[in-house]
Amino acid sequence: MTNAKKELLAIADSCVKCGICTPHCPTYTHIQNENESPRGRIALIQAWAGGQLNVTDNLLEHIDSCLLCRACEKSCPAVVPYAKLIDDFRAEMHGEKSAPISVRLVKTFAENKPAHRWIKLGLAFYQQYNLQKIARFLRVPTLFGLEKLERLVPNYQESQTLQSYYPATSEVKGDAGLFVGCMGEMFDFETVNAAIIVLTHVGFNVHLPETQTCCGALALHEGDTETAQNLAKQNQTAFASENLQAIITIASGCGSTLKDYAPKVVDISHFLAQTNFDLKPLAANIRVHSPCSLKNVLKTDKSVLTLLKRIPEANISSLPDTTQCCGAAGSYSLRHDKMAQTLLNELLENALEKPTDYLVSSNIGCALHIAAGLRERGENVTVVHPVVLLARQLR
Ligand code: SF4
Ligand code: SF4
Repeated sequence: MTNAKKELLAIADSCVKCGICTPHCPTYTHIQNENESPRGRIALIQAWAGGQLNVTDNLLEHIDSCLLCRACEKSCPAVVPYAKLIDDFRAEMHGEKSAPISVRLVKTFAENKPAHRWIKLGLAFYQQYNLQKIARFLRVPTLFGLEKLERLVPNYQESQTLQSYYPATSEVKGDAGLFVGCMGEMFDFETVNAAIIVLTHVGFNVHLPETQTCCGALALHEGDTETAQNLAKQNQTAFASENLQAIITIASGCGSTLKDYAPKVVDISHFLAQTNFDLKPLAANIRVHSPCSLKNVLKTDKSVLTLLKRIPEANISSLPDTTQCCGAAGSYSLRHDKMAQTLLNELLENALEKPTDYLVSSNIGCALHIAAGLRERGENVTVVHPVVLLARQLR
């Protein structure tokens, strides 16, 4: 037996098969099939590693259909490191099945920083000259198998070239690194800009090392360990050079991967919740979506509520505790459209049961997926990162 199989068996054997995790699992609650539950997936990997089961398309499909939302991990009394088991299994299976073209494209773009500028220019051209409407009308994205990816493209945002350093604009409290993330830089410059404004306002010198790169989450969850490790090393080097109090993330999906290899990683809302600053009133209904990565991995979702409640006159409420993963889950919605849509529809039903002006989300992947769902329903709800609202309301 290989060492990799022994390690997989050791993790799988720590599961006592109690089933406490199963009602928390979105795929199990919707499909009601043990193979689509955390306990079932652990048993499948256990049987494969133990030599009782061969690799089949069926087996790979059951593992692939896991969202890696980690709701099971959070509820597990035996503290089974479920995500590690799945990532390690996927690494063993890397290359067995090729990913859809949309997933390969996203992964390539995410990992190729020099290409980001060209992608942004291309998107601006695509949207500003109405090419998007024409392409959708002619079903061009569908012809190339890119319709699930194309629906996520947000409206074009003007952006500027980022500096590597922004000095504090009030009494200096320290230095912080800002992890921008590949998707944030390409699709959500408003959040990047808002983070710099708020952090400098509360007294932090903000460093954005130019050599920072993709966090590696996409590669890791695709089983491409070599790429994930190379990206991790690059980020470790990029942020090691400064004397930083914290490495701040504005996408909880990136944060949950970074925290495994970089010390001092903290989600921006949790970081800001420890600081004091005054905000102008905002008479609006704000609903808070807690991404799985913030809730189940970083476990700092409550800080978003704490922070937003500081906005005078704002009516803040979170989505019901029973709300499951939105279905975005990294590249999941590009592979498993049906489940991703089912989960998104449930989340939107919950979100829209009350009048909502803003739906805030701390993860860019979730925000793009949710915003696409709202656009398709014709709902006039703005999806923003919490720090965008804070930056707008700063006194
Ligand atoms: S993963 Fe944890 S909660 Fe789920 S069956 Fe195993 S031991 Fe029980
Ligand atoms: S990570 Fe999420 S989808 Fe996967 S088994 Fe656990 S609860 Fe289910």
